[in-house]
Amino acid sequence: MQTLFLDGFYYRNTLKGMERTAKRLAEEYDAIDFSDIVQESALARQYCILVLRVGEKSVETLASAEVSIGGIVHKLSSSQLETVYEQSKAGGGDFCAKAFLQTVLNPIYMKRELVAYLPSYEGDLGNDNPLLLEIADERILFCKLVFTKENNAIMILLDTALSPSAPVMDTLRTQLIAISVAIFFFSLLLAFLISELISRPIVKINRKARLLSEGNYNADFSGDGYREICELGETLNDTAEKLSAVERVQRELISNISHDLRTPLTMIKGYAEVMRDIESERTPENVQVIIDESERLSELVDDILSISKAQQGKEKYDLERFDLAAALSETVDRYRRLKRAEGFTFNLSSAPSATVYADKGKILQVICNLLNNAINYTKDKEVNINCFIRGNSVHVDIIDNGEGIPDSELPNIWQRYYKVDKNHERSRIGSGLGLSIVRGILEYHKASYGVESKIGEGSRFWFELPLSK
Ligand code: ADP
Repeated sequence: MQTLFLDGFYYRNTLKGMERTAKRLAEEYDAIDFSDIVQESALARQYCILVLRVGEKSVETLASAEVSIGGIVHKLSSSQLETVYEQSKAGGGDFCAKAFLQTVLNPIYMKRELVAYLPSYEGDLGNDNPLLLEIADERILFCKLVFTKENNAIMILLDTALSPSAPVMDTLRTQLIAISVAIFFFSLLLAFLISELISRPIVKINRKARLLSEGNYNADFSGDGYREICELGETLNDTAEKLSAVERVQRELISNISHDLRTPLTMIKGYAEVMRDIESERTPENVQVIIDESERLSELVDDILSISKAQQGKEKYDLERFDLAAALSETVDRYRRLKRAEGFTFNLSSAPSATVYADKGKILQVICNLLNNAINYTKDKEVNINCFIRGNSVHVDIIDNGEGIPDSELPNIWQRYYKVDKNHERSRIGSGLGLSIVRGILEYHKASYGVESKIGEGSRFWFELPLSK
């Protein structure tokens, strides 16, 4: 601001002030106390003022005030005065010029010139103090001409320093340099502090994240720093926890699946070998064992395939209108026939019909998975199934009176590969995939579902599908 605009601003401001003063003097040149007015105006604004009455052959000083050293109006040569006069006249009365004192100040020359041109001029021309040359400064000169009735011209000449005094400028400049240097170092310091504040926690968290990418899930990201870094730390902690859970679950899954696969395979191999070697063992019962075990194997493989398809989003759903009550009743009948020999009873209480718009195969898979669980976990080999209409939906319950599921485990059982009690004999039967498949299918159909369970009393798994007309 100082270096760019101060000069221009100062120039315009000064010029305006001079114009105002000249206008005022022009209005009052014939006042009795005109000299006082001139003196006052000159003192108030540090102007040098010279007011001349220019006649055809004579020039008379009306008033003069020389308050600042280096003023030029009192030292103009006659030719210069004449130029100013001509210029003002040509410009409609006003003239302004910037001048360097050095260029106009030549007292000896000026004196001679003025005397030659303006014989009656009585201004103080003898000031040839060399000091004037040294403090020379750029000045602004303003001239106003007023023509009187007597064919005279009143020539009002004002001049003042064009820029603030050199010491002021020097002070400002020194200040500016000092402030700039201070600000520069201060900003360096600030930039350093801010970058430390921002980047150090990022560097730290990045180092830990690298550990995470190398498979070390124990890294603790919760750290100090600003809010965003703390949040990032929490997110990464969460991620590490989830990754380690996934890894643990996958490890368990591999051991589970290999165990689950090995049991039926051992049975199949054992029975087949016995039947190959001993003729009396080639009975339909033994063949049935082989068939049952192969079925278990294929169910397990189906489950794994279905989960992996769902995971890749490749699963296809064929939606159709069908009677859920009828499908449920058929399925239960099939289970009755299958499990009669083992002494299971299935009590079905169902609405006569309930049409829904869904993927029939997938919904039957839900029912089978829930029935399989009920069969696996029931204590007295009894499974109750309800199907009834409620509002605009059909509600299906599959109830067993097994050992129940602890409340704390209820939200987890829908997760993939999750088994409540891994040491429990029955939990070995399943793979921990059944309920996760159920959840996937029901969520696809936007059906509501849930479970209520009491330890020692049993569980009620339910789902609800909207009725279709
Ligand atoms: P699984 O094939 O092992 O049964 P699921 O996903 O069907 O896998 O079930 C997950 C876990 O939920 C089971 O391991 C079991 O602990 C629990 N669970 C499921 N159904 C029942 C039930 N009817 N009674 C008690 N526990 C159950």
